Amino acid sequence: MKRALIIGSGIAGLAAAIRLKQKGYLVDVFEASSTVGGKIGTLEKDGFRWDTGPSLFTMPGLIKELFDLCDENLEDYFSYIQKETICNYFWEDGTSFSVHADEGQFINDLAVLLGEDKSLIKSYLARSKAKYKLTEPVFLNQSLHIWKNYFKPKTLKAFAKSTSLDLFKSLDELNKEYFKNSKSVQFFNRFATYNGSSPYKTSGIMSMIPSLEMNYGTYFPKKGMRSIVDSLYELAKRQGVEFHLNEKVQRIETTSNKVSGLKTVKDTYKAAIVVSNMDVHYVYEELLPEKRKPKRILNQEKSSSALIFYWGVKKSFQQLDLHNVFFSDNYEKEFESLFEKKEIFNDPTIYINISSKEKPDDAPEGMENWFVMVNAPANYGQNWSSLIAEAKSNILKKLERCLGENVGELIISEEILDPIKIDNETKSFRGSLYGNSSNSRYSAFFRHPNFNRIRNLYFCGGSVHPGGGIPLSLKSAKIVSDLIPKL
Ligand code: FAD
Repeated sequence: MKRALIIGSGIAGLAAAIRLKQKGYLVDVFEASSTVGGKIGTLEKDGFRWDTGPSLFTMPGLIKELFDLCDENLEDYFSYIQKETICNYFWEDGTSFSVHADEGQFINDLAVLLGEDKSLIKSYLARSKAKYKLTEPVFLNQSLHIWKNYFKPKTLKAFAKSTSLDLFKSLDELNKEYFKNSKSVQFFNRFATYNGSSPYKTSGIMSMIPSLEMNYGTYFPKKGMRSIVDSLYELAKRQGVEFHLNEKVQRIETTSNKVSGLKTVKDTYKAAIVVSNMDVHYVYEELLPEKRKPKRILNQEKSSSALIFYWGVKKSFQQLDLHNVFFSDNYEKEFESLFEKKEIFNDPTIYINISSKEKPDDAPEGMENWFVMVNAPANYGQNWSSLIAEAKSNILKKLERCLGENVGELIISEEILDPIKIDNETKSFRGSLYGNSSNSRYSAFFRHPNFNRIRNLYFCGGSVHPGGGIPLSLKSAKIVSDLIPKL
């Protein structure tokens, strides 16, 4: 049997391992850290538990697909609920908006609260849905770097209808065409942050993202986000995938421009196939130092990073749900700070995730586990200790204004994750959450392909095509598997 070696056990590495095992390969996964899962981590302290990375779970069907592939029943190992309230939004003037999963109710609520025209909201969402339907098979389910894919009927159809994709205006410009209330524009602009971009720069095509929440729903894994990777890890092991934890890969070995194996901190291994799930920037820098780098791709602007405070809070807040957003009063300036000045804005948009709302054992009784995140620039050597102290003070002041409560006095446990730690702990270049940003209309074409000039070397994960986030990382593993022949 041929051997396939995977570098990294992020969600895409786990998915690629499962898929290649099903294709008949002997599969080994090498992970530098002591646990699998990469950014999808967990933290326990002082009686609280937090998911340290992703908190929004969409498209669970992509996880089910992996269990189906192995002829196993997803429900026996992993369960989740669909959320009726997608997210609670708060503005400083006291306006709040609870986004309901039911499209009809959402349209009605938005129209009543912010005075928008129902038919325009409907048409925006229909256009968003159409964009996703048109682009998914072309941009998200296949390699963008294989010429024959451009001549498939679905690709030609997408290009023929490219004017309906709103590629040539920014997301903000598009949203202003539809909505008169600046709060509605801000609400729809926020979807740019789902891939770490600025709504004032990213293309209007990103308006397809709300349709994912509305049409496919948002979910919560009953045992927390971490159970997504735990269940895939166990599935991979049951299929016979071998895991080598604490075994950092140091080198990709090649002979005549074809992959021949890997050198790790412990040993060397021969392989027919190597799949890298680590940030592509470090692959070239550390594992292939003498090979020509795809500079144009690697030098693209990075996506935003994040500053997260994990707070154990000794009170329960009835007005909050699983997902909560407190909007900045000046969204445009916030993105200017992030991408131009590389600073955290002094009135930041605050996202608070409270998993104990759905999973009470994540916090002691009567308390809550707050995951408090603000957008942060990627790490360019800023003075992070001063940015973090300033951000914490600004967050607490804003929460006091919005909730009428001195949250600082309620914090009984704290941990902090910043761009430097994200980089160090998961090897994400500059701590960016999603690899390259999507701040240009051609950005899809400037993500690293799922392969390069070295034969039998493949790439999956959030830093390559089709993009970051759990769903797209899972899709990248499928694209890679589709490129590799079955044995
Ligand atoms: P990664 O998670 O990047 O893991 C790569 C793995 O490779 C790591 O385990 C690393 O240790 C290992 N590795 C690196 N170098 C080596 C080496 N030389 N040898 C061996 N192993 C190596 N996505 C969502 O869908 N929803 C969200 O709500 C969301 N929120 C997020 C919030 C935060 C704070 C963060 C950090 C990310 C968030 N994301 C979210 C993004 C999402 O987590 C990532 O896009 C996704 O998990 C990336 O997975 P990956 O497969 O690329 O691997």
